[in-house]
Amino acid sequence: MRLTPLAPGYREEPYWWRDAPPVRLPEAPLPTEADVVIIGGGYTGIMAAARLAWRGRSVTVLEKNELGWGASSRNGGMVLPGFKSDPGSLLKRYGDDGRLLFQATLDALALVEETIRVNQIECQYFRSGQLFLAHKPALARQLDDEAHILGQLGVTARVVPRVELASEVGTSLYYGGLLVERSGGLHPAKYFAGLAQLARDRGAHLYDHTPATAVECRRGGSFAVSTSRGQISAGHVLLATNGYSDAIIPSVRRRVIPIGSYIIATEPLSSELARSAIPNRRMLIDSKNFLYYWRLSADDRMLFGGRASFAPTTIDRARDWLYAAMTRVHPQLRGVRVEHAWGGLVGFTFDRMPHIGRRKGVTFALGYCGTGIAMATYFGQLAADWIAGDELPAYWRRPFPSMPLYRERAWFLPAVGWYYRALDRL
Ligand SMILES: Cc1cc2nc3c(=O)[nH]c(=O)nc-3n(C[C@H](O)[C@H](O)[C@H](O)COP(=O)(O)OP(=O)(O)OC[C@H]3O[C@@H](n4cnc5c(N)ncnc54)[C@H](O)[C@@H]3O)c2cc1C
Repeated sequence: MRLTPLAPGYREEPYWWRDAPPVRLPEAPLPTEADVVIIGGGYTGIMAAARLAWRGRSVTVLEKNELGWGASSRNGGMVLPGFKSDPGSLLKRYGDDGRLLFQATLDALALVEETIRVNQIECQYFRSGQLFLAHKPALARQLDDEAHILGQLGVTARVVPRVELASEVGTSLYYGGLLVERSGGLHPAKYFAGLAQLARDRGAHLYDHTPATAVECRRGGSFAVSTSRGQISAGHVLLATNGYSDAIIPSVRRRVIPIGSYIIATEPLSSELARSAIPNRRMLIDSKNFLYYWRLSADDRMLFGGRASFAPTTIDRARDWLYAAMTRVHPQLRGVRVEHAWGGLVGFTFDRMPHIGRRKGVTFALGYCGTGIAMATYFGQLAADWIAGDELPAYWRRPFPSMPLYRERAWFLPAVGWYYRALDRL
């Protein structure tokens, strides 16, 4: 029996598409050559296209579906500093390079803000602040250390003890929080639409429903990119397919693990109910491996995301699970109806870090592990500058790990999922 109450207009598609749906472009002939062909039309690919066009290169973007159809119009809209690994682990693992890597995430945040400001992209961006919530007492005790490390890395973070949490979040489920005021929130599909407009205005050629089907490296270092609509000769190719990577460059595909993440959006809440759940409109994330992330939209809907396990699932099963989770966290939302439910693919990597590099001459930029709004924008620009002849900073030149026998089926995920669930429960 389904327990999730559904609004009359319930739809299994991103809430963000109500105001900024992916649009079909008028069909135009494909060029036969380009300085750069970009495969994948999300934040990474579009930002790279805008930058390369600005630097005077002819650019063609190939997107398999509608532009922005992937994670870039399906995400939670949380613009956060840092990586999947906590800053302490980052410094332990990479030493001084860890500082530079973390600084890059702050530069990424600044780049998003500057891009929005300079190009007047209307995407509801605001510096909301982000609250990281400890789901165990032991984790709450580590928050002071984490705040200290973040301070050393240039980010002001404040511990919110359990007794004060009610001022930030309407739930008694958590043991403490870490508040980072610098983080922001936006409407991801409107942000994407603004970037796409920028790329187009600068002269980039964008093609939807045009999958790249093969990339052949020719003698002399140029490429032939085959598509469903013909072939293009290119001086450079950028692979920007993240969680939607197919086998077009098998050595990259073997290094990215696509993992589904799901979100529900309720109908608009009354302003009292919205305030009772998230009084200061923060972006919220908890500390579990199978984490919850949630926020309010501009029109006061609750957007609640996460996933139960790594096992394959359907949107309606994910929706019911998320509704149960949301009402466990915020019992005051019981009975509120769900109007949208959707999912998208996150591109994970084995070291939980994004990667930029080259394989057989093809540049790739991907692996954001679920925090990619800022980093994909940044990697798009970085990849473009590298292709245009700038040096790639040494701290990004790191090994890109894989797993033996991993090709397309992530056979190890059930065991990893079991381990993470056990950790979350312990
Ligand atoms: C549900 C969800 C919630 C998230 N929440 C957040 C969040 O709150 N904050 C945050 O920072 N990040 C979040 N993320 C992650 C973030 O959305 C991504 O990291 C980011 O959008 C990646 O952008 P991208 O351009 O690299 O990839 P995508 O936007 O996924 O684009 C890749 C594109 O490549 C195309 N493609 C694949 N193969 C081919 C081919 N052969 N030819 C042509 N095109 C191809 C696909 O169709 C796809 O459109 C979330 C992700 C999901 C799924």
